[in-house]
Amino acid sequence: MAREQVYNFAPGPSTMPVSALKTAAAELLDFKGSGMSVMEISHRSPLFQEVFDGAKARLKSLLRVPDTHEILFVQGGATTQFAAIPMNLLAGGTADYAVTGNFSGKAAEEARKYGNVHVAADTTATGHDRIPTQAELNLSPDAKYFYYCANNTIFGTEWHFVPETKAPLVCDMSSDILSQPVDVSRFGLIYAGAQKNMAPAGLTVVIVDKALAGHELPITPKILSYKTMIETDSLLNTPPCWCIYMLGLTLDWVSAQGGVEAMDAVKRERAGMIYDFLDESRLFIPHAKPEARSFMNVTFRTPSAELDAEFVREAAARGLKNLKGHKLTGGLRASLYNAMPVEGAKALLEFMKEFEHSHV
Ligand SMILES: *Cc1c(COP(=O)(O)O)cnc(C)c1O
Repeated sequence: MAREQVYNFAPGPSTMPVSALKTAAAELLDFKGSGMSVMEISHRSPLFQEVFDGAKARLKSLLRVPDTHEILFVQGGATTQFAAIPMNLLAGGTADYAVTGNFSGKAAEEARKYGNVHVAADTTATGHDRIPTQAELNLSPDAKYFYYCANNTIFGTEWHFVPETKAPLVCDMSSDILSQPVDVSRFGLIYAGAQKNMAPAGLTVVIVDKALAGHELPITPKILSYKTMIETDSLLNTPPCWCIYMLGLTLDWVSAQGGVEAMDAVKRERAGMIYDFLDESRLFIPHAKPEARSFMNVTFRTPSAELDAEFVREAAARGLKNLKGHKLTGGLRASLYNAMPVEGAKALLEFMKEFEHSHV
């Protein structure tokens, strides 16, 4: 099956803008007349510095990152930040965690090694099908920070408001960064693994309020210290050069589409048509409560695991790939990240209608 015949609904690593992949292919052997690939040049060379600075400047402008905050390009995936955040910001104190899915649960578990974790909300009891309201947040008086995961990739729920807290907000935006405008000044720290909405796996973007850096536990590895990474402009050691290059190409594409406002409009169109159908379906059952639905990951199921498997198989044969749900939830999941064209969602919708027609 050729690329043009496939829509890839994978949750991560996931589909990338075709224009970014084409540029990378064209420049693969000879980057800007250097006779070398981006992956072959020194991370300290002026040629790479241009790539690095360009990606950072574009991200700063797209997300309107204020000068109070620094953008870091780090490695180790989002999972490394589960530890880096408490090491840098907890200082043995207490932090509030909202557990609304697998990744926020894991982050809370990791943080317990470095200080006190107060669970400010937990949606485990209802299978993480919802997001707590502001009133439901049980905030502790002296929390060093409030941690939450903006979009729950596995369960298909998303926070549609920014919590009000006295403590600085720390947010995992791995699966919905760049899908909407964000007021970065309201956050102490935002981070995101790149492989959902930005670039290949291997790069993590951290946007940190510089005022919060410099209080890390003495045991904090240098490479995980926000202070050190700010001081070295993320170049303490070799950064994930190729991923940063790909991020730049993705950001060029986001800009050309009209920035995060355009991404916001398209995501509503894409996910909206699937949810509208799910609400009327006589076969498919949506997982997330309507008010908590994710625009990035649509989770649903048929009445049986056998039928789910059949759906995944038949969809794949039509070029609609990777629709199997996560093992924690079972069922089905369509990940509709920025790079998924509206046509991809339409093709999925048509297939869902046909599948329903032949099974009820
Ligand atoms: C994928 C994902 C993670 C884990 O990312 P890794 O880079 O594999 O560590 C964490 N949080 C969210 C929201 C994710 O979607």
